[in-house]
Amino acid sequence: MIEINQLTKIYANGVRALDNLSVKIAKGDFCFLVGPSGAGKSTFLRLLFREEVPTSGQIVIDGRDIGSMPESRVPYLRRNMGIVLQDFQLLQRRTVAENVAFALRVMGVSDSVIDRRVQDTLELVGLSHKRRMLPSELSGGEQQRVCIARALVNEPLILITDEPTGNLDPMISQDIMSLFLDINKRGTTVIMA
Ligand code: ADP
Repeated sequence: MIEINQLTKIYANGVRALDNLSVKIAKGDFCFLVGPSGAGKSTFLRLLFREEVPTSGQIVIDGRDIGSMPESRVPYLRRNMGIVLQDFQLLQRRTVAENVAFALRVMGVSDSVIDRRVQDTLELVGLSHKRRMLPSELSGGEQQRVCIARALVNEPLILITDEPTGNLDPMISQDIMSLFLDINKRGTTVIMA
């Protein structure tokens, strides 16, 4: 499903973040990227969602080389991806439900479909009872759950996440990890740094 061939990324400052990397990630895998700070984990993820472009090599997702894909196709690529980063970047003046609904609204999905998907996704992450609250009224772990719901509401094939528990305490981190495992069991490919 995801095939990486001889991928190299050299930043403008000359740093070689990835050097001739080849790897395959099958549909439905749970893939961990492990390595010390600076190993290139975030670079790899940013290449996967086309935040960065490769210096050389290919990233083929479902038969398409996303490195050479025109910029105009990138939004369509990302519709099949959920992305969860460490800094939550939630809309502070909008409720939990509105944060989760936002991307669907932008895509012009009908209100009835949005309501159902938001409700289902908030149930999955265990937050339906807090749907009317603002992000500032939630704990860090709960805010990260909102981010996970926001990433999942579009029913992505691939969930990409960069140290999602990096800013959370260990007990909360375990909950978040088991949530990712549940998501993976439902068939979503998960790629986690
Ligand atoms: P990790 O996520 O494993 O900590 P990164 O992918 O963030 O690693 O970084 C890999 C290397 O690339 C590091 O040496 C880092 O300093 C460098 N790097 C990351 N982002 C940039 C950038 N935007 N410009 C220049 N160098 C970068």
